Amino acid sequence: MALRLNRQMMAVYSYFLVWGGTLLAIQLGIYARDTPHVLLFSSLLLFNILVFVAIRSGLSKVLPDPSLTMPQMLSAIALVTALLHYAEEMRGAMISIYFMVMTFGVFSLDRRKMIGLSVVVLSAFTGLLVYEAVYAPHRLVFGIAFGQWSILLLGLVWFVFVGGYIHNLQQRIREQRESLRDNHSRLEESHRQLHEAMEKLAEIAVRDSLTGLYNRRHFIERLEEVIALAERSHEPFYLALIDLDHFKLVNDQHGHQVGDDILQRFAAVARQTLRRSDVLARYGGEEFIALFPEGSDADIAEVLERLRETFASTGHDDLVPGLKVTLSAGLTGWRPGDDADSLTKRADDALYAAKHLGRNRLQVA
Ligand code: GH3
Ligand code: MG
Ligand code: MG
Repeated sequence: MALRLNRQMMAVYSYFLVWGGTLLAIQLGIYARDTPHVLLFSSLLLFNILVFVAIRSGLSKVLPDPSLTMPQMLSAIALVTALLHYAEEMRGAMISIYFMVMTFGVFSLDRRKMIGLSVVVLSAFTGLLVYEAVYAPHRLVFGIAFGQWSILLLGLVWFVFVGGYIHNLQQRIREQRESLRDNHSRLEESHRQLHEAMEKLAEIAVRDSLTGLYNRRHFIERLEEVIALAERSHEPFYLALIDLDHFKLVNDQHGHQVGDDILQRFAAVARQTLRRSDVLARYGGEEFIALFPEGSDADIAEVLERLRETFASTGHDDLVPGLKVTLSAGLTGWRPGDDADSLTKRADDALYAAKHLGRNRLQVA
């Protein structure tokens, strides 16, 4: 809308300019003294106020041409034709004002409409000449009139040709800008998808596919980091190894699929029991490893006890009626001088002890 109003304001400025020129020409005596310039220009400006209101209020939006280019140009052609009637010797020069009007159409009208407008301009001028030939033959010099008419025709043909060219150029630039914008958003979309895929891949790389817990490799990396921190801060942290009891039996008696389902259930129970800051991974087979970066040994023993109890009391009746599976765990805390190997070795020893003491229990190193 701003653009439409802008263009309309430009037209209004042009009218004032032409009005000023006309007044000057009348003063200089090269224009008929009886030119009804007040009537002509004020009716045109009134028409323009109506157009302005129609665009400004949004009323013009319901029309096929919301910028009202055609009515504005037709009114301007009418004005120019009327001015030419009073132009006397100035007529030859004044004809060029037709082209000022045509210029307004170049950007919004296609070649077909420009041809239509040219026909209107030429008809208006021809009509003026015929009118004068009939009612004021003394004003008309045939040779000059024919010369002006021919120049107008040539100019209009040229205008349709060049105007059409400019119009197409502008259209092409608009299309290119749109396709550029399309390409840009497509690029952004594939960039986003790539980013998502990479994030998914990174997630897959650190996860165990059956249980969704972290894998052993990722766990060792995290453990090394926590050890490095502890070496500086001397704050202890805890490590637990968890092994499901008699799991070979579960597989042998009920099949590998039931075994897999139980492993997933353990992962679900453990995820609910441990805290967010704890790191739980599948260490291998039916063995799991947990890292507790914060908390006292009593706290952590309590968490592990709760995990043991919850898992032991979880029923698997939907898989095998009456089936219960238990776990054993070995817990140890970090001591100065410990590395990943010595720490897991101690947790493993504690786990071994738990198995020896009858399973379904937690042993602290
Ligand atoms: P223990 O109480 O001494 O730990 O007895 P266990 O039978 O659990 O001991 P062991 O480590 O000898 O057996 C582990 C069994 O776990 C061997 C294998 O049948 C089973 N197992 C290991 N990984 C998987 C798995 O990914 N899926 C299934 N279904 N079973 C597994
Ligand atoms: Mg086992
Ligand atoms: Mg085992």
